Amino acid sequence: MSPAATRILLAGARRRGRGLSTSAEPSPSPSLSPSQLPSGKRWDAVVIGGGHNGLAAAAYLARAGRSVAVLERRGVLGGAAVSESDLVPGFRFSRCSYLLSLLRPALIRELELERHGLKLLPRSPSSFTPCLDGRYLLLGPDAELNRSEIGKFSKKDAEAYPRYEEQLEKFCKLMDFVIDSPPPELRQLYHASMVDRMKDKVDKSVFWSKLLGLVMQQGQQDMVNFFDLLLSPASKILNNWFEGDVLKATLATDAVIGTMAGVNTPGSGYVLLHHIMGETGGQRGVWAYVEGGMGSVSSAISKAALEAGFASNGR
Ligand SMILES: Cc1cc2nc3c(=O)[nH]c(=O)nc-3n(C[C@H](O)[C@H](O)[C@H](O)COP(=O)(O)OP(=O)(O)OC[C@H]3O[C@@H](n4cnc5c(N)ncnc54)[C@H](O)[C@@H]3O)c2cc1C
Repeated sequence: MSPAATRILLAGARRRGRGLSTSAEPSPSPSLSPSQLPSGKRWDAVVIGGGHNGLAAAAYLARAGRSVAVLERRGVLGGAAVSESDLVPGFRFSRCSYLLSLLRPALIRELELERHGLKLLPRSPSSFTPCLDGRYLLLGPDAELNRSEIGKFSKKDAEAYPRYEEQLEKFCKLMDFVIDSPPPELRQLYHASMVDRMKDKVDKSVFWSKLLGLVMQQGQQDMVNFFDLLLSPASKILNNWFEGDVLKATLATDAVIGTMAGVNTPGSGYVLLHHIMGETGGQRGVWAYVEGGMGSVSSAISKAALEAGFASNGR
């Protein structure tokens, strides 16, 4: 790690009146160099790595009143969610990740990322698949457009597509609950107080009973289909639903992107679902470009982290 490049984000430090001021932060990476860090300073939490996940953890810790230092080895915060201009001078763009939908809506809301500069531009159309014979398939968030586009290749597929989307939506709702709930960990509570042990039992009971309720709502056949989707190759799922290769090939991209697996790999069905689970502006499965590139995501989260410290100053 080059000390010259290392950036340090300090959040929540002033809540307890014993931290640094970070008020003069430039956008998009409000941070300090190591020489500005006071020696002997103690932190409640130190996050190694200022990717968007580390920054989000720092923001929530800062909101909980903790002093946090995020240590980032690069000269810019954000990890793979960065906008940079050093590759092509004069142009600033997403250098690695480039599309967003999986950032949880609760996180966008709770950290007020829109107020901190996050602006999502829904991707429409979502895909364009050209064919060698001159035909093409254009898909997007518009159900009517999808119907007529898919119908160019297969009327049967055009009929099946809304039912396919409806089933995935059901599964996504089940996953929403799992993803947005704290995991029911098997905690070692031997030395915990009676109250903490009771609270732990209640938390777990609430989680499992809510999950059971959602599973019951799905019904037996849907649960079989759900586990089939999670465990099967995406090719099996898509072959069961559709007959047209152009549509299946287009949808299969969601099953292989970002993974070292092919459409015939067992489990790639889950990857397919994973890339539909997100949303933009309440629209399921819709991905978005971020104004200013993906660095704007990291910038907004780091601003929320810093503000969580400053906002409480004087309380
Ligand atoms: C090519 C590519 C394209 C992608 N495209 C998309 C996309 O379009 N949309 C999408 O949602 N996801 C995409 N992803 C996935 C997404 O980028 C990652 O899931 C996400 O960036 C993970 O975030 P993170 O904060 O956990 O880690 P990272 O973004 O990897 O951040 C980790 C940070 O820690 C720092 N670090 C590591 N070790 C140390 C250390 N010892 N000391 C100090 N700092 C350290 C690193 O420099 C880095 O800044 C893509 C991934 C890749 C590789």
